[in-house]
Amino acid sequence: MQTDMPTVVTRFAPSPTGFLHIGGARTALYNWLLARHYGGKFLLRIEDTDKKRSTKEAIDAIIEGMKWLELDWDGDAVSQAGRADRHQEVALQLLADGKAYKCFASQEELTAAREEARANGQNFRGDLWRDRNESEAAAGAPFSIRLRMPRDGETTIEDAVQGPVTVHNSNLDDMILLRSDGTPTYMLAVVVDDHDMGITHIVRGDDHLNNAFRQHQIYEALGWTPPVLAHIPLIHGPDGKKLSKRHGALGVEAYRDMGYLPEAMRNYLLRLGWSHGDDEIISTAQAIEWFTLENVGKGAARFDFDKLDNLNGYYLRNLKADALLSLIRNDLEKEVGHSLDTAEESRLVQALPALAERAKRMPDITENASLFCNVRPLSLTDQAVKALSGDVPEMLAKVANELEAITDWEQSVIKAAILSFAEAEELKLGKVMQPIRAAVTGGKQCGDLVETLEILGQSEVIGRLRDLIAT
Ligand code: GLU
Repeated sequence: MQTDMPTVVTRFAPSPTGFLHIGGARTALYNWLLARHYGGKFLLRIEDTDKKRSTKEAIDAIIEGMKWLELDWDGDAVSQAGRADRHQEVALQLLADGKAYKCFASQEELTAAREEARANGQNFRGDLWRDRNESEAAAGAPFSIRLRMPRDGETTIEDAVQGPVTVHNSNLDDMILLRSDGTPTYMLAVVVDDHDMGITHIVRGDDHLNNAFRQHQIYEALGWTPPVLAHIPLIHGPDGKKLSKRHGALGVEAYRDMGYLPEAMRNYLLRLGWSHGDDEIISTAQAIEWFTLENVGKGAARFDFDKLDNLNGYYLRNLKADALLSLIRNDLEKEVGHSLDTAEESRLVQALPALAERAKRMPDITENASLFCNVRPLSLTDQAVKALSGDVPEMLAKVANELEAITDWEQSVIKAAILSFAEAEELKLGKVMQPIRAAVTGGKQCGDLVETLEILGQSEVIGRLRDLIAT
């Protein structure tokens, strides 16, 4: 934690209209890291003002996604819709101060004005009532409240990632703050909420940069200090196209279901737009220590499954066996069709480190881990069936007899028994080992064979070898 800055308050402000997609997750992560780096606060605000598009399922998915990524927020999540009265109050205050005005234009009038502006090659400013007097409107006519935008000059935003970005004020329209039904617009709600929540830094996708200019004018009109803005480039797909929010497979729960670890996801998302020298493996503790806005990249990053797989493999290999077991337990029990007993648990704890060596995602481990469970008779892959054809089962029955005679079930003894069997039968070692492997694994992948035999235990190994004769 660093204390060279006054308290930093960041927020993640998703609109609950779909999954917590990968871009949103990265935005959440960066805001979270910034707050944690400076020992500040990270707040969560659900931007649910759009009643038609916001759903309870989407809110739950966002909360679940945040929890899975272990991005904890301070205090309760704020519902933007619950703050409509406050938004209205601010709009009325701007009206009273002359910074905003009532617009009585009908939809038809606005459409006509928009088309006229387009025909003349001008920007539509929505300013039909900017210079008119309220007394000109019919009594009781509905009105919206619009911001009186500055007409001259330029607005420059000093973006912490993009640098200074300037827009001519003549490009800005007199945007609506409060609709004629009294509901606030998104622009107003965001500014009021960020101000009231004491937000000091906003990290978000650069698709919001245009909004930033308009929001800036609301801050100006209210005499409020805008937060530091950091607009980060959007994530592009492997094909270079923008990642689609609606692409279901890219919700974070899809990544969870594909078998990625949250720590690997955090590391991957961190690197997707931020760097610390050449470091690729960055723990969350290091990320908190190192994360500032200075090293956020300006270029769009491309999503790359191979990189994510490699990182995930790293984090899988570094998990303690019992932690890994608890992560795969549910799926494994489903696969083998029973709850694990203590013998299976102890075999798995011994076997998992070797299984994790080759794995990229959790299902790679789960699938192979099932061979350490009580799953006799084993189902065999085509390759295993081939390796076990002809008179191989008879040979393995003899191997089983040799192994049964062992009194001290331990790797060196097992190995010696197999070697002396091969010698006595005048068989190449491979001719014995390969069928044993097929018989005890069913064709699944595992680490060293003799180690696997030791872990499986004497009676299980002998049983598996003899099953081939019995079937
Ligand atoms: N609710 C907006 C979104 O989900 C974000 C608004 C903001 O970060 O200012 O895209």
